[in-house]
Amino acid sequence: GKPTYSPPPAKYGGRHTVALIPGDGIGPELLNHVRELFRFSCVPVDFEVVHVNSSSTSEEDISNAIMAIRRNGVALKGNIETNHTMPPNHKSRNNLLRTSLDLYANVMHCQSLPGVQTRHKNIDIIIIRENTEGEYSSLEHESVSGVVESLKIITRNNSLRIADYAFKLAREKGRRRVTAVHKANIMKLGDGLFLQCCKEVASGYPDIEFDSMIVDNTTMQLVSKPHQFDVMVMPNLYGNVVSNVCAGLVGGPGLVPGANYGRDYAVFETATRNTGKSIANRNVANPTAMLLASCLMLDHLKLHEYANMVRSAILTTMNETRLHTMDIGGQGTTSEVVQSIMRIIQSSGPLTTEV
Ligand code: ADP
Ligand code: MG
Repeated sequence: GKPTYSPPPAKYGGRHTVALIPGDGIGPELLNHVRELFRFSCVPVDFEVVHVNSSSTSEEDISNAIMAIRRNGVALKGNIETNHTMPPNHKSRNNLLRTSLDLYANVMHCQSLPGVQTRHKNIDIIIIRENTEGEYSSLEHESVSGVVESLKIITRNNSLRIADYAFKLAREKGRRRVTAVHKANIMKLGDGLFLQCCKEVASGYPDIEFDSMIVDNTTMQLVSKPHQFDVMVMPNLYGNVVSNVCAGLVGGPGLVPGANYGRDYAVFETATRNTGKSIANRNVANPTAMLLASCLMLDHLKLHEYANMVRSAILTTMNETRLHTMDIGGQGTTSEVVQSIMRIIQSSGPLTTEV
């Protein structure tokens, strides 16, 4: 199939229902802004809000959230805080959600934004991160006192399917090259298998160039010569590190949206999944990443006209330096940015026609 699967059909009068998981930190306020903006713009999406209490030890909340996503097919979420004092086999709620729904592909499209000052201009990199295994297996134990073993799981099946996802997406988006990021010189078996699977898949896509790069060199190349990269595919933990480097390249974690796709479900969030606890409830967080995530969600629901309308208002607002939030050097507030976006949508008139 195509890398992006068909969304669930609209119900009741052309409206969609989407699970909304506010999460912790800045999640709830950012998602309130999304709801406000959707209402204002007459976006035909209703939300089923599911709260997950990160401090409770029961798994009931997260099971309900997972059930809501199974029911609706699509979710928009904030990050759920992870309690580090839990036993080692306790998976983070975010990780449990991704693995339970088999959201195997994390996709981040890192693009320079108009009006944001950065060292490098015109960045346009797509990162495909394996999202279900690797170092995130939660399989750790202390075999004897003072000796810890952490298992990194790499499977042929999951490596082939993420590589195939990357090449299909590259072809669909008209991209030229896919770079596999690895450390097969050290993890000869694990990363060796990942790299081998990427090579095998690449042979089925003669129209797309394939190369590979060791992860340490990759991070160095990214900060010095980022324009050499096109589409990148990698195991879970390298994906976490590389996506944060790339977010930094275009202005930080408040700007880049992210998506998690599986065969059956899609979950949208900010690309670097920050909780932002220290800036929560202060009306200072940059709402851009979450608003752009909501646009990716609208695209997934094939509500492209709404997605384009909101996205274009976000980008126009980014060009107003006066409104920039503090993470990108301004003094604007979260709600001032959202109000500007709504003013722009109003001036072009909300969509009234069926799309
Ligand atoms: P983690 O998920 O590791 O807890 P943090 O919440 O610590 O990540 O985020 C890392 C940094 O990025 C913090 O300084 C935080 O304030 C900042 N940050 C994250 N999201 C945003 C945002 N939307 N707007 C502004 N700053 C943000
Ligand atoms: Mg932190």
